Amino acid sequence: MMVIHQVDELRTYLKKERFSAAKEGRELSVGFVPTMGFLHDGHASLLKQAREHNDLVVLSIFVNPIQFGPGEDLDRYPRDEERDLALAKREGVDVVFLPSVQEMYPNPTKTKIVVSELTSGLCGASRPGHFDGVTTVVGKLLHMINPTRTYFGLKDAQQVAVIRQMVDDLNFDVEIIPCPIIRESDGLALSSRNVYLGAEEREQALILSKSLREAEARIRSDRSVSLSEIRAKITENINYKPLAEIDYVDILQFPALTPVDESVPATQIKGEIIIALAVKFGKTRLIDNILLSPEGVVIHV
Ligand code: AMP
Repeated sequence: MMVIHQVDELRTYLKKERFSAAKEGRELSVGFVPTMGFLHDGHASLLKQAREHNDLVVLSIFVNPIQFGPGEDLDRYPRDEERDLALAKREGVDVVFLPSVQEMYPNPTKTKIVVSELTSGLCGASRPGHFDGVTTVVGKLLHMINPTRTYFGLKDAQQVAVIRQMVDDLNFDVEIIPCPIIRESDGLALSSRNVYLGAEEREQALILSKSLREAEARIRSDRSVSLSEIRAKITENINYKPLAEIDYVDILQFPALTPVDESVPATQIKGEIIIALAVKFGKTRLIDNILLSPEGVVIHV
């Protein structure tokens, strides 16, 4: 496994690998998994898929400062390079790209990629500028690596929708592969930020996945329930936990992220919808979601 810190070195390495493959008459497929490190089984699941479907797997680890707002957790974002590299090795990664902030942004960037509309709601509303930072860094990384496929977790479903839009609008030559949410055995969605949670917060945070599961079961079993009732019930469940502070509980079409008519029975909703939550426990902001088709088929859990 190679660990590369410089953009030039990464490009040279990939060029050589592509050249060798071409000499043998093959096209090298490259799977790319962008992360901010402090890796867990959620990241590992993306790497496993990338390993299965590509000749070469590139993992990037970069805590991207421009996607953090003032007062957010950039300075205390958890890091453990040694453990990350061990996980990467275990998952059969070929190249870990680990650039410094100086390497990624030698000068403050004057160019940003901004996706409109899809970024205005959900996390975009409470984290202004966040998605501009995400699309800008992902755009840069895609240019540096030029992968065949890139893997994103549906834990950050809005991010998947936004990146897809960027790739379609700007003709990036890459396939986006959305991957299911990986959870602890008790239901909590894995996140690097879970380490911030105190024991009591961790216990109460289970209400997120529990309410989503309950909502799904109700939509399946009660054909007349409306999405507004579903939303009200989730909100009530979460508010019942004293340490929880709701940022949003929203139900939208996916991946368009446009509003749905919440007043009609859930069964009359067409296409795929997302029930998405963001809830703060102390200083820790957690997100979770479920994607489903109200006709009864769950797309991804
Ligand atoms: P991050 O390091 O948090 O920026 O995440 C890097 C990638 O891993 C993103 O595509 C995330 O959506 C994905 N990811 C994070 N947590 C999970 C999870 N629990 N299940 C699946 N994918 C995840």
